[in-house]
Amino acid sequence: MMQLFIVEGNKQHLDGGSMFGNAPKALWNKWIPADAHNRIPLACRCLLVRTPQGRQVLFETGIGAFFEPKLKERFGVYETQHVLLENLAALGVKEEEIDAVVLSHLHFDHAGGLLTAYGEKMRLHFPKARYYLGREHWARAKNPHIREQVSFIPQIQELLADSGRLVLIEGSHCAELDFGVRFHYSHGHTIGLMLAELELPEGPLVFVSDLVPGIPWVHLPIVMGYDRFPELTVDEKRKLFEDLHKRKGRLFFTHDPQTPVVKLGMEGNRYTAEPTALSH
Ligand SMILES: [Zn+2]
Repeated sequence: MMQLFIVEGNKQHLDGGSMFGNAPKALWNKWIPADAHNRIPLACRCLLVRTPQGRQVLFETGIGAFFEPKLKERFGVYETQHVLLENLAALGVKEEEIDAVVLSHLHFDHAGGLLTAYGEKMRLHFPKARYYLGREHWARAKNPHIREQVSFIPQIQELLADSGRLVLIEGSHCAELDFGVRFHYSHGHTIGLMLAELELPEGPLVFVSDLVPGIPWVHLPIVMGYDRFPELTVDEKRKLFEDLHKRKGRLFFTHDPQTPVVKLGMEGNRYTAEPTALSH
């Protein structure tokens, strides 16, 4: 039987205005209240899957603890230790026991956890894992637009390329990930964002990454100011939701400060998100 575990990584605090795009603060502050610096708390939550064959697959790595003190402060990363590794250890999993790391994209708050903590020699964690990423996003990450540059850490791309363990995915399936996972792609947030869908007895579960950071963003017009093409994000959410709602699908959130998993519902013509357990 496949086993699933929610594994929290380091938290971050980002500017609420940037996270909610053109929504006014009077509105978003009710959904997630801002602190004195106008920032909101955001989880960097990962999903660990143990396949029936005993392979351990980690979906994303969160922001990690690699930032130097000034940047840690700027992005509101308060814990200095690598929280994801600690939480994996609490589950009895060592980093060298992870067989695969699936990355939706390489923005630092999703891939930063690949790096060792500040003060240690910089290297990639998970020394035996193969790292899976969409081919189209890889091209983007190596050559980002100037507006998106700040979201990437060039050393991550260099270390991944040098690892010899980077696997670039094209299309909906990857032969090496054969435990009931297929991929959707989205280009509104960044080019080639790869969303993993797990086939579970309870129905489909989609790791929606930055297409839908958390519950408030389930409302179709609400998208991040960080997105490359906000209207495309809205259209891509609508398309995914239409399909998933028919199939009684669930969403796994990496950034929602409180809720890891919701069931997608509908009231009138508006999609709703009902918190639910990861496994039944
Ligand atoms: Zn992102």
